[in-house]
Amino acid sequence: MTIFAKIINGEIPADIVYEDEHCLAFRDVNPQAPTHVLLIPRKPVESLDHLTADDSVLMGHMMLTVPEVARKLGISDGYRTIINTGKHGGQTVFHLHIHILAGRNLTWPPG
Ligand code: 5GP
Repeated sequence: MTIFAKIINGEIPADIVYEDEHCLAFRDVNPQAPTHVLLIPRKPVESLDHLTADDSVLMGHMMLTVPEVARKLGISDGYRTIINTGKHGGQTVFHLHIHILAGRNLTWPPG
């Protein structure tokens, strides 16, 4: 079981900022910007590479939830969304998650 599955089932605590029946968002324990939140599906999908056509509605819902979370957090000057996938993508937790970073001018390209 991943650490995020344990957050979903309440085994370990998290600073949850949004939740609904399909997904939840909580603050990253090691924030890389003044606001750094992770939006995850309740369904235990490992990564983008593990999605199937059955996940179309779920992923559409997740994308529509991003701006809702941003609004809820009072983010007004924009934000960056990142999904790390696999080894070269820098993924460390194998439960799909969308990083939402805000609160500073983020540089490009990423490292
Ligand atoms: P990845 O590197 O897989 O894209 O992102 C995983 C993220 O999960 C990292 O930014 C890391 O700081 C965060 N993280 C890892 N363990 C925990 C935890 O137990 N609680 C919270 N809130 N975030 C975590």
